[in-house]
Amino acid sequence: MATSATTSSSTMLTLPSDPIRQIQWRFADRYDLQMLVQSARGVARGTVAQIVAAGERNSHEWTPAKNEMMETFDRAGITGAFMEPEEGGFISGPKNLALALAAFELAWVDGGAATASLAGFLALAPIHERGTPQQSRHYKALSAPPQPGEDRKPWRGAFVLTEPIPYVGVDTGMLSGKVRIAGWREDQDPWLQVEKRGRFITNIAFANFVTAAVTSDDPRIQGSCVVILEDTDEGTFDRGTPTKKLVHQLSSTGDPIFNLKVPANRIVGGYTIKDGVLIPNFNHGEVIEAVFRRTRVTVGLMTAAKLLSSIEPVIRYQRGRFRGAEGARPGTVRYEQGIQQREDALHRLVDVWATGEAAASLGFAAARLFDELDPIEKQKNAIMAERGVAGGRAELKAMRESEQRAIAQLKMEAGDRRRDEIAADPLIQFVLADAEANVLCPATKLWNTGNGTNMMREAVSLMGGYGITEDCPGFLASKWMDAQLEATYEGPESVQRRQLTVTMTSEVFLAQFRAWTAEMRRVASTHPETGACTLASAMRMWLWSLEHLQKATDASGNKLYHGQRQGVTFPLADALCWLLASRYQILDVLELERRGASENWSSDGLAGTVQFLSDLCHVQSARAAGEVSRICAELVFGYNEHPSWTDEACTKCCFSAEELGELEEAMPGISAIAVDVIQSDGSHPLKAGPCASCNGAGDFLQLQNKLCGCLSGSRLAKDRAAETVSKVMIPEALDYPA
Ligand SMILES: Cc1cc2nc3c(=O)[nH]c(=O)nc-3n(C[C@H](O)[C@H](O)[C@H](O)COP(=O)(O)OP(=O)(O)OC[C@H]3O[C@@H](n4cnc5c(N)ncnc54)[C@H](O)[C@@H]3O)c2cc1C
Repeated sequence: MATSATTSSSTMLTLPSDPIRQIQWRFADRYDLQMLVQSARGVARGTVAQIVAAGERNSHEWTPAKNEMMETFDRAGITGAFMEPEEGGFISGPKNLALALAAFELAWVDGGAATASLAGFLALAPIHERGTPQQSRHYKALSAPPQPGEDRKPWRGAFVLTEPIPYVGVDTGMLSGKVRIAGWREDQDPWLQVEKRGRFITNIAFANFVTAAVTSDDPRIQGSCVVILEDTDEGTFDRGTPTKKLVHQLSSTGDPIFNLKVPANRIVGGYTIKDGVLIPNFNHGEVIEAVFRRTRVTVGLMTAAKLLSSIEPVIRYQRGRFRGAEGARPGTVRYEQGIQQREDALHRLVDVWATGEAAASLGFAAARLFDELDPIEKQKNAIMAERGVAGGRAELKAMRESEQRAIAQLKMEAGDRRRDEIAADPLIQFVLADAEANVLCPATKLWNTGNGTNMMREAVSLMGGYGITEDCPGFLASKWMDAQLEATYEGPESVQRRQLTVTMTSEVFLAQFRAWTAEMRRVASTHPETGACTLASAMRMWLWSLEHLQKATDASGNKLYHGQRQGVTFPLADALCWLLASRYQILDVLELERRGASENWSSDGLAGTVQFLSDLCHVQSARAAGEVSRICAELVFGYNEHPSWTDEACTKCCFSAEELGELEEAMPGISAIAVDVIQSDGSHPLKAGPCASCNGAGDFLQLQNKLCGCLSGSRLAKDRAAETVSKVMIPEALDYPA
């Protein structure tokens, strides 16, 4: 039995189903991923939900129940999702989307459970991305879940980068972990002595191996590297005490100490020897960059899952709020609708829902893009090798021509035949996908987790006092707090903003962004209800502001847009994320409509869902436009000095009362519009100074004016979405225990 229903054909009747999500997030044709989702969901809403409800989050210790959870992951195929079939897994090819979907399902119930599974992949990722083939085979085989009938415990790993203060945190270059030569016999591999202290290391209670970042403390080793340490290596492998976390308690975290002797073949990616010096093939920065580039997307999706998971419990709470009270009899509005009688309660829930949709769309788009990028990158590397281009600067130079062709292609008209020809070039494909991925990864991590955490507070607040109790269905308060960890680990917001300020100004990305703005206008012409036009106007404003700020100076003549001026660059990065999230949200709804129609889905069900999700797009694009307008206006005007009542300013910008009297004779009515008038006794209006004239920013004001008009209809969309939320059917009970 459902708690509420409607029969209107263009109204969404139920919460979006799996087939709808499969189309939106583009895995409708991937049976392997659908299976993974189902099995991860079984574990999340079964084992994980049960142990959370049983209070396992109340302990910092690694308990038998938490350990059992890891074994459940093995049996459900979650651990194996990282491996190729020949390595003990079941998914072939790139796995960014696969891992993202599994983490999304786990985080729907508990972020710590998702982290516990991801941390193992994070430990393996340096080896997967940059390890030698032998290292990759060896550690993946050990970490693969046992096959049926096989009596073996899979190895677990931990990724060890962060160090006790004052070393590695946001700044990954400040390493205190050291590597020295422990012994080096002629004609034999050297042995290394590795000293590393970790801080906040996930999986450490049970890790069999760790991948640790260290720097050389020996003239016979060059630079830094990531090295693999095992718990049976000679020396100290001290797991440290558990961190007293307030979040993600189903994962293990601690501050380990290592002082171990290991063979040099444990350096991730191997090494060469030149003139008696051991040179790692990859320094620690190169390894970490390749890893975080992909794994941060998954973290962003964990927060998206939390937001979307909160919808059903909130609806149930709101509707049932007054049931049982005198006067609230079945059939009365008070009984049926509860708090949902009130517009604000519905509107706030619509905001949470719209944010969740946008975050999921952005994150899954990023995960898919990395799946596309992986083979293209390999192809690009092969082409470069064939041409004898050996990475680094030489490669950057060689790619320059492809970048220019990619930019030219983006500017070509739709019917231009050269477009397809250029697009077929693998180097162009790489350049485009790489530029987009360089922005999407930090954008997903930054916006989904940062803004997502703020919106989780909204979700919690909608449950009143219940929201901040352990009994709250959907564990919403824990999810709110957990989201903050997602905003912090694998690099907190400043790291993502720093990266965005570089990648979002790449010529290729900006050419893509211009093309996307035009694309949104086209979408608006066929789907105005998505708010695509509002979004396009906001995109234009963002680009205008970026270009203006790149040239402008502040009141003291100092440059505004440069690396050290985070007050300018960081908010612009934030503003961009709002736009991107909205864009991918709209594209997902278009895909749902297109594919649903081509598969002859019941038009009633599809139309209602498309209408509702389009309304959420409109709500979100209006919110994004508001944020962009606020941020850009502050940056464009905020660095100008406001005029004060000095003689110079008054002469330049004000009327004298006398002068105004004379003008009034020639132009009757001018006195009524003159704002800054100095009276004969020298007095002036009581305000900060003559109004700022906004020289040079007239175009901005025009854009802002236009943007305000573009908001037309957005609140009507919100009203429609709220109406649907008040009627949509939900299951009788939550599908996991509270
Ligand atoms: C539960 C948990 C699990 C973790 N798991 C792991 C793990 O498995 N492996 C691992 O290696 N690490 C792990 N970490 C560490 C985590 O990645 C770091 O905590 C995180 O990167 C932030 O570093 P920090 O805590 O030193 O923050 P800080 O560097 O001290 O940053 C504090 C604040 O200052 C800001 N800030 C810092 N530098 C700048 C700057 N240059 N510009 C502007 N603002 C700046 C930051 O954005 C942040 O808001 C974990 C952390 C936790 C809490």
